Amino acid sequence: MAARGETDWVSRFADEVISEAERRAPGKTIVCASGLSPSGPIHLGNLREVMTPHLVADEIRRRGRECVHLLSWDDYDRFRRVPAGIDPAWAEHVGKPLTSVPAPPGSTHANWAEHFKAPMIEALAELGVRYHGISQTEQYTSGAYREQILLAVRERATIDAELSRHRTKQVEDYFPYKPYCELCERDLTTVTAYDDESTELAYTCECGFGETVRLAEHDRGKLVWKVDWPMRWAYEGVIFEPSGVDHHSPGSAWTAGGRIVREVFGGEQPIGPMYAFVGIAGMAKMSSSKGDVPTPADALEIMEAPVLRWLYARRKPAQSFKIAFDQEIQRLYDEWDAVGRKVAAGQAQPAELAAYDRAVRTAEGPLPATAHPIPYRTLASIVDITTGHAEQTLRILRDLDAVAGLDEARPRLDKAQRWVDGQVPAEQRTRVRESPDEELLDSLGPVERESLRLLADGLDDWSLDGLTTLVYGVPKRQAGLPADAAPTPELKAAQRAFFALLYRLLIGRDTGPRLPTLLLAVGADRVRKLVGA
Ligand SMILES: [Zn+2]
Repeated sequence: MAARGETDWVSRFADEVISEAERRAPGKTIVCASGLSPSGPIHLGNLREVMTPHLVADEIRRRGRECVHLLSWDDYDRFRRVPAGIDPAWAEHVGKPLTSVPAPPGSTHANWAEHFKAPMIEALAELGVRYHGISQTEQYTSGAYREQILLAVRERATIDAELSRHRTKQVEDYFPYKPYCELCERDLTTVTAYDDESTELAYTCECGFGETVRLAEHDRGKLVWKVDWPMRWAYEGVIFEPSGVDHHSPGSAWTAGGRIVREVFGGEQPIGPMYAFVGIAGMAKMSSSKGDVPTPADALEIMEAPVLRWLYARRKPAQSFKIAFDQEIQRLYDEWDAVGRKVAAGQAQPAELAAYDRAVRTAEGPLPATAHPIPYRTLASIVDITTGHAEQTLRILRDLDAVAGLDEARPRLDKAQRWVDGQVPAEQRTRVRESPDEELLDSLGPVERESLRLLADGLDDWSLDGLTTLVYGVPKRQAGLPADAAPTPELKAAQRAFFALLYRLLIGRDTGPRLPTLLLAVGADRVRKLVGA
């Protein structure tokens, strides 16, 4: 294995962050940060905002250094619009902080923000992400940022000059602090006067209310986003905080923030790689638990936490990728199992090994794993055929790979079950025939009849290997070839025809799950019945 620090992108960032932390704040706990807005269901694509600093913070902790991963819940942001599917009456809350908006109808949570935070908190726990959550509502309303707010307001001309570099229109009387109205709680306010000496601030609201407050005592408002972000870099001493590509255009919050943090708050911009978009592929329409937005919880329904972690660990932040909810997940799992075998055999490349290791454990220890991992596509076939019947599933798994109890195959088995139930379209589901297809059986010629008899006679070796040898071997025997005969084009064609016949007789289609698995699932007696032997 290569020396530490050269294995993968996570190690390289950890090196950089540690040396930068030593320069900026020697001996102090290293701070990595992310921010999420609970304005609605938190999209699976936003998980990268958390996973990127998580992996770096985890690597720093693995090296025995103190490191905290701050997760800011931007729950003091304004409620912007009523999402589809929510009572239009919620429109009256537009402009209020997310923590002042009632939770959607039927929710048990205290407010809108808490309702959408909760599933994310649960998903992060399952993913093994250790973080320190910060509610921006609590920060602002407790006056934690009072000095920073007064400073930003005092330096408003500097901030205005920075922001105006990319502005096409000049803003009159720029003010970096937005009060929430004392009466209606909304931010439809305009600051009409401010006195630097007394910090007296007058505002009016579109609701008709107006008042004068002392900013030095006011805890009902927030800095505008482009000032709030750099303020927090300085306040929290953030060394590492990645952000999405949308924040990195000229004049964006990241670029402007870099100058504002220096000139106004006397701090420094974090090391902040730009991360690329994570797409979602093939998700069944409206199968998401929270409307039509795929969330991390939806991904964890169908894949184990280490596999989801692996998707992030193995790609550099600048590389985009897709998370698949369709058939592609079976290929992903094949790849994952192959890497696992390479790691177990000591044959993995350093970068492969690093990504795998970051997927299966954190600095605190290993993540829960499936004790007896049967290939995902096999599990999917089995639960598809048995429609989740526990006893049948166990019988097949026992025959297949000596699985003693279903718990050995969990949680992977449950994930495969939910994938089949939620993501596989009805027309792709396997339905084993109840009774033989007499019409088809009657139409068969002597060669086909013989192939079915050879199959029925060979069902005694009831194991995955035995059945694999059997289904490939029947056409060989019919051609007078030995069992270990090399495939020829003629033999392959005969095998394809034989397999298609079996699929039609067993499930009424031309293709289906791998035949040995299908035979195991159907059971010897029913196979004999359906092939008319
Ligand atoms: Zn108002």
